[in-house]
Amino acid sequence: MQPGDLAGFVADLRQHGLRVTPQRRAIWQVFAEPGCAHLTADEVFGHARAYLPEVSRATVYNTLGEFVRVGLLRVVEGFGPALYDPNLDPTHQHFRCQRCGQLYDVHVAGAPVLELVEPGFAISRVQITVEGRCPECRS
Ligand SMILES: [Zn+2]
Ligand SMILES: [Zn+2]
Repeated sequence: MQPGDLAGFVADLRQHGLRVTPQRRAIWQVFAEPGCAHLTADEVFGHARAYLPEVSRATVYNTLGEFVRVGLLRVVEGFGPALYDPNLDPTHQHFRCQRCGQLYDVHVAGAPVLELVEPGFAISRVQITVEGRCPECRS
């Protein structure tokens, strides 16, 4: 589902027994804006107020948690505060440009199957964070 796909959003919420409220709709709309692919909860709050001035910070935080639980968003960690990401493609990882700070969705080619040197751990998820310079900052 694409961010901003309201029909899919409504269907997903109903499937999980959640009502489509103006708050949930406003928060979902934020992720359809250009440049809103990876946002902190506070950034979502700032944008959501443009749609719904009375929305509270607590509602935004709770709703983001709900969206992660029902599979509308995923959480990206490792770049400071948690970022909410509507790109659910499980093969995508993140590249942060150290010059402009932009976070890009990237795919890692030739990644080896990771094994831990320490015994006894079971890996359920690997998040790769890559840093460097983006194509724009290199040119
Ligand atoms: Zn850059
Ligand atoms: Zn992403």
